[in-house]
Amino acid sequence: MNESNFMEVTFKALSINESFARVCVAGFCLQLNPTLDEIGDIKTAVSEAVTNCVVHAYPSKHKGLITIRCDIENNTIKITVKDQGVGIKDIDRAREPFFTTKPSEERSGMGFAVMESFMDKLEVEHNEGSGIIVTMYKKIANTSLQVGNA
Ligand code: ATP
Ligand code: MG
Repeated sequence: MNESNFMEVTFKALSINESFARVCVAGFCLQLNPTLDEIGDIKTAVSEAVTNCVVHAYPSKHKGLITIRCDIENNTIKITVKDQGVGIKDIDRAREPFFTTKPSEERSGMGFAVMESFMDKLEVEHNEGSGIIVTMYKKIANTSLQVGNA
């Protein structure tokens, strides 16, 4: 059965929620019958995107929200990670390997590079209003889609 499916979850931008986000997306992807390597890649990419929202998007004490949406279309997973924070002035620069605005906090500037290499495609855009939207795609090989089954 080739049916589309999606889920959306919103949570507070706290580091304690990073593992929740990772496991939540991984659990949703299981219906595509991914390999352990594929699920590992997805978890790593989601971790980097969510960590960025936690570390960079909301520098003030008041922590805002992170919304993750996952869409499954045929055998491709599309993951959107959205915040409403300070945003990024120069997105192309921010995506360069080793670029970081927080070198003092032992950030290596490799988050976007990791997302790009672990997923098939990465898009970073300004969120309308404030913040950014990170969209990542990954095609799951040899899938037998079973949407609707337990
Ligand atoms: P690392 O991911 O290796 O710990 P990093 O987070 O600085 O370091 P990237 O994830 O590649 O590196 O991000 C590059 C830069 O883009 C960040 O230093 C930050 O300035 C900016 N950035 C990334 N995500 C966001 C976000 N959600 N909101 C605001 N700025 C962001
Ligand atoms: Mg990062």
